[in-house]
Amino acid sequence: MKKRVTLTFPKRSVHMPVTYRLAKDFNVAANIIRAQVAPNQIGKLVVELSGDIDQLDAAIDWMRSQDIGVSASSREIVIDETSCVHCGLCTGVCPTEALSLDPISWRLTFARSRCIVCEQCIATCPVQAISTNL
Ligand code: SF4
Ligand code: SF4
Repeated sequence: MKKRVTLTFPKRSVHMPVTYRLAKDFNVAANIIRAQVAPNQIGKLVVELSGDIDQLDAAIDWMRSQDIGVSASSREIVIDETSCVHCGLCTGVCPTEALSLDPISWRLTFARSRCIVCEQCIATCPVQAISTNL
């Protein structure tokens, strides 16, 4: 299963090879969606974790034992269906194919479960129909 979480690192853990430890010790893959880490400062990562549910929970427990804050990421993409003109431009930049045009109706479809909130689609929309909830 997959979980999107925000990790907050204390100063002492900023340089910890967390993604390596998650893969090696828990068989959990971490896809970094957004990073905000500067030397000697608190760092933040938004990551999508993939793995077995028990191992995901164990990995999260381990990160918390290392004083790494783990919180569910609630930021989501919102599409204003009244503004969308179904031009399809946003589908060209979506790395997960969460956005696609229905081959029959040629209307935009959004598969929320595939969206990793990379936000690349937002800037491509000519009518500003895409935004985030936060
Ligand atoms: S935020 Fe990223 S993954 Fe989600 S729909 Fe937009 S481009 Fe696709
Ligand atoms: S780029 Fe904007 S108008 Fe075009 S299909 Fe995507 S959301 Fe709709």
